[in-house]
Amino acid sequence: MDRDSLKRHLEFFRDLGISQLNIPLVENAAGRGSMPPRTATSETSPQAELIAAARARQVQMPPARPTSPSLLDFAPENDTLAQIVDDIGDCKRCRLCEKRNKIVFGSGNPQARLVFVGEGPGADEDQQGLPFVGRAGQLLTQMINGTAMKEGLEIRREDVYICNVVKCRPPENRTPLPDETEICGQFLFRQLMVIRPKAICALGGSAVKALLGTREGITRLRGNWQNWRNIPVMPTYHPSFLLRPYSQNAKREAWEDLKKVLHFVYD
Ligand code: URA
Repeated sequence: MDRDSLKRHLEFFRDLGISQLNIPLVENAAGRGSMPPRTATSETSPQAELIAAARARQVQMPPARPTSPSLLDFAPENDTLAQIVDDIGDCKRCRLCEKRNKIVFGSGNPQARLVFVGEGPGADEDQQGLPFVGRAGQLLTQMINGTAMKEGLEIRREDVYICNVVKCRPPENRTPLPDETEICGQFLFRQLMVIRPKAICALGGSAVKALLGTREGITRLRGNWQNWRNIPVMPTYHPSFLLRPYSQNAKREAWEDLKKVLHFVYD
């Protein structure tokens, strides 16, 4: 197999979410069997280097959680973002409709390779109908554009897709309640299935909980790849938290997390 087809093969498996390649990709000197483990002294062929590079790019994530049947399983076969907007309609499925001004569906590139998921719209988002346009949004934009530029990646906020767990503003910006997350989460899941990004960045505890169903806190989970329906999920701090004056450390960590995601998706 030539170098280019091997590379395509490896990328195919990686995109499928197969993070371990235990198959004997090349035959060893004896003519059979798996590759010898790479040591400092072992010979480095271009093939071996490609495999090592592909392995380094893979993410190690836990297996996807078994999902209970949900409305997602009844989503239309050829679902689209437009169809989801249509299905949301003038939503009155939960109490959040009572005080909302605009439903905030999501924005960005509908074919994005990276999706950011926040908690729910704030006051500015509720006014404009767009996610992350207030102070936290400005920080998120700076984080995406700034980190990408520093890392030499030609990515801007417009290239990713941004949405929230709940699409209507919770009063006083309170955390969405479990039933609100459950109801609106179905639309988030459909959005993610339609876009099928290469990775998801979950911003803060509500997004992590909605996607992973875990009670583990963001401080423990951040920086470590997780798994939502075989899409790698990187949990990190919510930009609103990073705006607080005492979050210097968290800021540094969030930048590290973002670097990891951007390189995984766009390298
Ligand atoms: N916080 C969020 O979680 N989402 C937004 O869209 C804005 C602020």
